[in-house]
Amino acid sequence: TERSLVLVKPDGFARGLSGEVLRRIEAKGYTLAALAVTTPTREQLAEHYAEHEGKPFYEPLVEFMSSGQVTAVVIEGNRCIEGFRALAGATDPTAALPGTIRGDLGRDWGKKVQENIVHGSDSPESAAREIAIWFPGLAT
Ligand code: ATP
Repeated sequence: TERSLVLVKPDGFARGLSGEVLRRIEAKGYTLAALAVTTPTREQLAEHYAEHEGKPFYEPLVEFMSSGQVTAVVIEGNRCIEGFRALAGATDPTAALPGTIRGDLGRDWGKKVQENIVHGSDSPESAAREIAIWFPGLAT
């Protein structure tokens, strides 16, 4: 089996979409291994988004992600990394297909950063790294 780190970002959390995201994850057949509501620190985000440091959207991204509460979730199931990314849809919510979380629930708000409701790990290596950031105590 496999685990992935999912975040309901501050835009999704503020809009009350945590339940809707969890509903879609469970309806797909994945299970929840850990769940928390937290306000990300800049330190956590610097680790989480290390690969994006130096890009033009990095600073707005960290500002946005530290601006409010998020729901952090570890999901579990065969191929759930790929599966959740399919559920989430394309990064740009305008381009994301209807039927996906971003396509159904997201839009362009004219901000410097794409506010796109959710994050999902993109590889087993990222998942292990990200789960350690958001759930340091969780057994592997
Ligand atoms: P995530 O990692 O959040 O699931 P992703 O893998 O689709 O999304 P990444 O390329 O890892 O996207 O970028 C991380 C986040 O940075 C995106 O989810 C989005 O919020 C923001 N972002 C990415 N590219 C841009 C861009 N060109 N302009 C503005 N914001 C962006």
